[in-house]
Amino acid sequence: MSYARFSDADVYVYESVYGFFMCQVCLLTPQDEGGWHGDTTTNTRMEMVTHLRAHREAGHDTGAAIDRLEAEIAQGEPEPREPCRACYEHDRPVELRRFNGAVFCRSCFDKAVAMTPQRGPQAPGWADGEVLP
Ligand SMILES: [Zn+2]
Ligand SMILES: [Zn+2]
Repeated sequence: MSYARFSDADVYVYESVYGFFMCQVCLLTPQDEGGWHGDTTTNTRMEMVTHLRAHREAGHDTGAAIDRLEAEIAQGEPEPREPCRACYEHDRPVELRRFNGAVFCRSCFDKAVAMTPQRGPQAPGWADGEVLP
């Protein structure tokens, strides 16, 4: 779902399935050699609202994005989750855990362990992962 699109605003803002908010082809970023702007990402709705206020100060039309984000904040909508590295699952109530920087769901973790024949006695088990909110 997008909060604003270029068809009705100067920004294209949406929640990425990879666990963050995206301001794609952001006019506040420098242009590359081909004249294209880069992207701005934030981990939380509030950070994206702050970013969009900077767009407004620069004279950009942010459409309904700020209102939509603030309504979700008021409703207590949870922040996006980094997905499982293997299957990209990120919806609750699936449990996600982090192992040395890599996020896995339970079934993908078990498959990854099963495919690692030389794992030694020190290899992490599911219980060793950092439980993600
Ligand atoms: Zn932006
Ligand atoms: Zn998975």
